[in-house]
Order: sequence, then C-alpha cells, then structure tokens
Amino acid sequence: MLGSHHPYAASDPRTREALTTLPVYNRLPFVPVRASGCDIITTDGRRILDLYGGHAVAALGYGHPGLVDAISDQCQRLLFQSNAVALDIRARAAEKLLQVAPADLSRVFFVNSGAEANENALRMACVVTRRDKVLAITHGFHGRTAAAGAVTWNSQRWYGFPAQPFDVEFIPRDDCDAAGRMIDSDVAAVIVEPVQGIAGACDLSHEFLRTLRKRTQQCGALLIADEVQSGMGRSGHFFAVQAHGIGPDILTSAKALGGGIPCGAVLCTEDVATHFGSGDLGSTFGGGPVVAAAIVAVIEAIENGKLLENVREREAQIREQCVRGPVKRIQGMGLLLGLVCDRPALEVRNALLQFDILTGTSSDPDVLRILAPLVLDSHHVDHLAQALDALAPSID
Ligand code: PLP
Repeated sequence: MLGSHHPYAASDPRTREALTTLPVYNRLPFVPVRASGCDIITTDGRRILDLYGGHAVAALGYGHPGLVDAISDQCQRLLFQSNAVALDIRARAAEKLLQVAPADLSRVFFVNSGAEANENALRMACVVTRRDKVLAITHGFHGRTAAAGAVTWNSQRWYGFPAQPFDVEFIPRDDCDAAGRMIDSDVAAVIVEPVQGIAGACDLSHEFLRTLRKRTQQCGALLIADEVQSGMGRSGHFFAVQAHGIGPDILTSAKALGGGIPCGAVLCTEDVATHFGSGDLGSTFGGGPVVAAAIVAVIEAIENGKLLENVREREAQIREQCVRGPVKRIQGMGLLLGLVCDRPALEVRNALLQFDILTGTSSDPDVLRILAPLVLDSHHVDHLAQALDALAPSID
C-alpha cells in the first residue's frame, strides 16, 4: 500500500504508477526519459550503460536508424491491417525469418509475445500428437499464460489457475539418462530453452540437447525450442540450437524479434504445419504491418551490421576481462551471460548501478545476468571490467 511516506514526489512517475498500476513489479531506482545506442538517459541527467536491454528486447540498442526509419515509414504507409488480408511486408518478415532459422523450419505463425508463442506451440504439439503430457526442464521459464506457466519450473508460486491444461513433468537439467527414461510414447512435446535465461543464462549441454532431439524423434514427440530469450542473434548465432546443429519441430521467438516492438512468432516444420487449417489458430495483432517492418529491419541490421560476429567478439572479451572483483566464473552463450558471483547478485547489481551500469539478476541468487544490446562496443566491456574491479572485496 502506498502511504503518506512514499519516498518520491507526487508528480514522480514512480509515485503515480504506484497509485495506478498493479504492484507486481519491483521498479529500478531511476526513470528513463530517452535512450541512444547502449545508453539510457534518466530524468536526473544520468547516462546509464544498459547491459540488460529491457529484458533482452533491445537487440539493436536504442534509436537504431534502420529500425526507427522502417517503423516510421510503415506507420505512415499502412499502420494496421489484420490477418484477414495478405501483406507484402508480412510475407517479407516471414521469408526473412525462415531464411535465418534452422533449415527444416518452413512456416511461421505470428503472435504478440513469448508466452503467446509458447502457448500456441504447446497447443500445436497436443494437436499434432494427440497426446496430453508435456515434458519441460527444471529451472526453465516459458511465460505466465495457462500452458506456458504450466511448463515453467516453480510456477506454483504464482500460477493461480485451478488446473493445468495437460500433464507436466520436469526433466532434471542436463540429465541425459533421465531424459532417455522420461521421454516415451505418451509425450506430446519436450519444451526447452537451449540457454536458460531467467535461470541465470545457464547453457544446457550439447549432449543433453542432442538426447532430447534423438529421443523425441524415436518416440514421435515434438521438440519445442523456446528461443524467446536466446534467439535473434543473442547467442552469437541467429538461434542457439543452430550452434548445436539441432533442428527442433517448433521454435518460438519474441523479445528481440521486433527490437522493442511487441511481437512473437512460432516457427514449425512442414510436417507440423500440415495439421493446421483455416480457423485453427489466430491472432488480431500478430504479424501486423508495423511489427512485420520491425522484424525485417532487425534481421537486416543483424546481417548488415555483422552483429553475430560482434556478439561473439564481445562474449570473448567479457569472458577474458570480467572474471574479476565479485565474479568467479561466467556461464551462458553470446550476450546471454551469467556472471556467477561470490556474493548475492542483487548486491552486485545495485553496486554496479552506482557506477551507472545496469545489469540484471536471475532466479539464481548468485548469478548476475548480462543481456546487452548486440551492438555493444568493446569500450562498454572495458567500463564493466573497471567497475567490477572497483567493487569492494567480499566480506568472507
Ligand atoms: N520464454 C522465455 C525463455 C522467456 O525468457 C520469457 C520471458 O522472459 C518468455 C518465454 C515469456 O515472454 P513474454 O514475457 O514476452 O510473454
């Protein structure tokens, strides 16, 4: 409850939002007014280096001319039309996305968010296999809707629905034997984040991911790769499964997909697509023209700006320079990295914020998350390394 002791002035957005929106978010202690490149400018004139990218959304950073121009051109030409009509820009977005996706994926269904993409992917798996059990991985996160929440580890803390839409079991992370045992002919799908984002950028082993692929194929179950956080170049590949040479039956994307314009996509193989016809799936806003223009612009910027190479270089630089101060080791892939700390990650995040560097926490209390824009520059990494050095040594 907001009492008369609220710390901010009545006109401060923090006070006004506290009075008008549901109190479900812990808000950071600054208010952005604009942003440019990798920097956020705040109401009190601070310039904060954003290594968190708005939950991995700002793939191109802020104010990228290719993205801004594509969105504003499309707004002027045709702001919206639904899926009742075909659009050149939507066709281009689908074509571009399929060009950069794993080879066997040949169809796209556009939606509005990561949870909605997973909700549809799970429904599609139940329809295709006519089975009612889904396996997920311990520590995974897939969203907060009924099906996506059901396959999210520990979601009982907030799930809220009276029942789950299907049976769910969790395969212990990276346990190949358990995967081999648990995936059987009752299973509709296994859903997996190749790099578990919210869990602390935990990159699952190649052997584990290959076991999931092999065993699902043997049992007639589908493999769903949730690349909502790891996808769109963040891993140093367009999609993290490509680094493992694994082709899922369904792949979900969102977050960075539109570079900040809300959108999601479900990609699937031709085999999966044959089970769906008119009226089986739908969305009002999914694949709208502005969204589609943003998707094309993001993919072109990643290609033209050689951003996959940049991600791999910045990853190498972070691994080389940033195991220092509170950081004991680094996990993850590309610019989805977990800095394992010798003290609570929240403490490190707050301390880095004093140096005007924004990082993220994770569901692992020891892991600080880096989800920086893919346009990150080497001097940004130098700045992070210097700040980590300047943090006081651990008390124990
Ligand atoms: N899947 C993964 C791997 C995520 O990290 C998230 C969000 O953090 C989601 C799904 C849900 O996406 P959204 O918040 O767009 O519904």
